[in-house]
Amino acid sequence: MQKRTKIPKDMANLTLFLSDRTCCVCRDPRKAIQIHHLDGNNNNHELDNLAVLCLQCHDDTQIKGGFGRKLNSELIKLYRNEFYMDNKKRLKKIIPNFNSLFKKITLPKKKNTSNPQSMIHDTEFIHKTIDLCYEKEDWKLLAYQYKWIDLMELGCKYAKKSIEESINNEEWIYVVEMQLDFFGSENVDLEFLEKAVNIYLKNKNFSQLARLYRDLGNPELATINYNKSIEFDIRKGNWFTAGFYLKESGNFERAKVFLKRGLKENLKKGDIHWIIRCYQELEMFEELKNFAKDIVYSDKIKEVTPFVRLSLMRIVGDEEEVKKLLKNMRILMKMRRFEQ
Ligand SMILES: [Zn+2]
Repeated sequence: MQKRTKIPKDMANLTLFLSDRTCCVCRDPRKAIQIHHLDGNNNNHELDNLAVLCLQCHDDTQIKGGFGRKLNSELIKLYRNEFYMDNKKRLKKIIPNFNSLFKKITLPKKKNTSNPQSMIHDTEFIHKTIDLCYEKEDWKLLAYQYKWIDLMELGCKYAKKSIEESINNEEWIYVVEMQLDFFGSENVDLEFLEKAVNIYLKNKNFSQLARLYRDLGNPELATINYNKSIEFDIRKGNWFTAGFYLKESGNFERAKVFLKRGLKENLKKGDIHWIIRCYQELEMFEELKNFAKDIVYSDKIKEVTPFVRLSLMRIVGDEEEVKKLLKNMRILMKMRRFEQ
């Protein structure tokens, strides 16, 4: 076995300074601390491999198996970078290359699911979005990013922050949504719920109201409101929307009638985005793939928007192009931030 070497004094000092001599996980300033090697190699004294932990949190890294949740190195890294980020203002003045000091945090890869269309499975994209959320201080979006990669602890932390903000801004729908998604239906505040329901009723937004009741575990009110929204769409001739909510409310067979009508209409109009959505909801994946191939390998691909292009490339499975497009979209998101 290799001999354990001592952490160089300057590295140890810098690590302690960055953490304010406080455990980066529990942040309890009264607890005794030690410097922990994230990768388990006690001779790897790189700054990115070091984190300050209290003895108790350090013990949590040793839990193996059982029902206890192990504090693994990736989670500690997230906590540590979070902690450093929170101290950013203080640290930036003293350490000019603060941002480049730390290598990218490696996020756990989400397992592949059967839905290749969904953007939320691009770990890399989520990773970059997380960076952007910190920059924009968008706590709501940040909370969901963490939820999608199964880091619920961090998700809940930012959900709380976003709920506080939404209460201040009297955005009752957001408050209820976040409480439901992160803390469960039993923790939804009734006062806020009533306010949110009134907003939906005022705007005649029956489909969202139906979803709300569904998530609250009230199938009676959910069905009544689904029916109201479907009736509204049928009267207006919104075939796709009518079919979509029929399917969502559990009636796929009847939904197909309306979705097919929507598909026919959009094929006539040549609206690529809605044609894709219709095929997807109809679960006609073979037809969807053929349709996408037709567009991708013809001149029509030049006329589509970046978002539609992204959908098409996912459908035909062009990974390279998907990566490129996601990168461009991130640049676009950044630019939009400066336009505001
Ligand atoms: Zn601790």
